Amino acid sequence: MSEDVVETRPSAIAGRGLFARRDFVAGERLAPYRGPTTTTPPVRPETGEVFALEVAAGLWLDGSGPDNPARWANHSCEPNAELIWHGAAEGAWLTSLRPLRAGEEITFDYGFSLAESLFNPCACRASGCIGRIIAAPLRPALRRHLRFSRPRD
Ligand SMILES: [Zn+2]
Repeated sequence: MSEDVVETRPSAIAGRGLFARRDFVAGERLAPYRGPTTTTPPVRPETGEVFALEVAAGLWLDGSGPDNPARWANHSCEPNAELIWHGAAEGAWLTSLRPLRAGEEITFDYGFSLAESLFNPCACRASGCIGRIIAAPLRPALRRHLRFSRPRD
């Protein structure tokens, strides 16, 4: 059902992206994020494409399967969607944080740790982009880290 309302195509952010095919209101379910869950953090592929996400404390969802078009949704420092875990029966859903227009790229916060962020540059092009894929609550800490590690001139 949801594949009708979203589509994947090349993205200006990275690789393929997930795009809205119609307008959405805030708080609407956009697409399921399908895959098996595990209680141990999955090893990330070396391709730089990351599909395993921590959807609840200590619970990871491996969305790498071909039946999960939502795996193409990119991270953004100013996302327009969030991934909400509804429990084992309903699974995880990308849900709009604000109204979306048809054709807009759907993005969400991958919620990466500080350590993960150092190996995952962000090119989301948001005005407040910090340049690394990292969970929003950790961004002030990363800003301090980057300030300290920047060479003086
Ligand atoms: Zn960014």
